[in-house]
Amino acid sequence: MSIFTPEHRKLIQMFHPAKHQEYSDVLSSLSSFMDKEILPVSPKLDSGEESIVLPRKALFTQGMGLVPFPSEYGGLGLPFSVYAMAVELLGTADASMALSVEIHNAVAEGVLRFGSESQRARHLGPMISGRKLASFALTEPASGSDAGNMATTAEKRAGEYVINGSKMFITNAGEADLYLVFAKTSKGPSCFLLESPNPGLKFGAELKKLGMRGSKTHEVIFSDCRVPEENLVGEEGKGADYAKEILHGARIVVAALNVGIAQLAYGKALAYARQRRAFGRAIADFQLIREKVADTKIGINAGRLLYLYASKIKESGGDYSSEASQAKVYATEMSLKACDDAIQIHGGYGYTTDDIHRHWRDARLLTIGEGTSEVLRMLISRRELARAA
Ligand SMILES: Cc1cc2nc3c(=O)[nH]c(=O)nc-3n(C[C@H](O)[C@H](O)[C@H](O)COP(=O)(O)OP(=O)(O)OC[C@H]3O[C@@H](n4cnc5c(N)ncnc54)[C@H](O)[C@@H]3O)c2cc1C
Repeated sequence: MSIFTPEHRKLIQMFHPAKHQEYSDVLSSLSSFMDKEILPVSPKLDSGEESIVLPRKALFTQGMGLVPFPSEYGGLGLPFSVYAMAVELLGTADASMALSVEIHNAVAEGVLRFGSESQRARHLGPMISGRKLASFALTEPASGSDAGNMATTAEKRAGEYVINGSKMFITNAGEADLYLVFAKTSKGPSCFLLESPNPGLKFGAELKKLGMRGSKTHEVIFSDCRVPEENLVGEEGKGADYAKEILHGARIVVAALNVGIAQLAYGKALAYARQRRAFGRAIADFQLIREKVADTKIGINAGRLLYLYASKIKESGGDYSSEASQAKVYATEMSLKACDDAIQIHGGYGYTTDDIHRHWRDARLLTIGEGTSEVLRMLISRRELARAA
């Protein structure tokens, strides 16, 4: 069965009645590539037997990076909700690949929204076609949630900025051609496009992770790393605002990614419950197993509707910060529970089979990355209290 299901198709029809055929065709074409080329190699990306590089390049060749970007840069110009659903499908095919691609695309969105015309002209086409890979460098060894408190500095000197400091837990680091780096100038946190290689740019050893093992994560170190003045993105001192805006969109996509992980774990649990027998019947006949099936199905549908709802507000130009965070908190916690239930349904085989427990290991990242559940609950409550005032 394809990862692009009749349920996905029905939702595209409901959310985009006038253009559903066109959008479904794009999703269907991407998902048949994922079915054939990504899903089968996913266990090997987790075990390290294969590298993400070639399948990710092939996926970009299929147009995965083009979906939400305007046609003037070579994109398909499709709505954000369609892009989010593409990432959901990719999350089902391989969560690490989806993480790598969504962070790359979040940087491309940042360049599109806050970059200068010459930055867009130089980088966007190569980025969205996958010829240049991007990395988002905000978190530091001593500041994550409190990212505004960054220690990395960018000092302006004769036509260039000199960056010193380091960034921690950076996805795609070492592989990327472009880094969106946040560093403090005399006016506050600012944002720069740093092209690799650069003599002042170095990387720590690859970090060993619980999950998302196909994606690469490193510390990024800047030692007198010089970037031309024209690589400043937007205005000096506005970097924290740009980071927040980029992350609001990325949270919708992370919610979609987690719905994708849950969908895969659920499918495996359902199949196993129907064939595994205990006490003379299939375990799917026991009510306590059925409760897990029902709860996971409710969670997947609710998570999907929440990310589509936040996407629609983003598409209409409204304030979607609370809804994006709601979708992320719900979908990441839901998928963690769905993957845990899938392990439980598989019994001892769940605990000892990589291809079952890797989904929980993958899902575990995203109640932390791109805004922890605690911090996002703060953001949601602050926003909702302000709306009620
Ligand atoms: C595999 C991986 C990939 C990543 N990729 C990237 C990337 O590409 N780019 C990037 O910039 N970053 C990346 N990150 C970093 C990630 O976004 C941060 O880990 C995350 O924002 C949390 O920051 P922290 O780890 O410093 O935790 P901290 O901010 O130190 O938080 C520790 C704990 O304290 C809680 N806490 C903090 N403040 C509050 C508060 N006010 N109220 C209640 N609780 C609070 C947190 O919720 C958390 O539970 C990645 C992380 C990982 C693990």
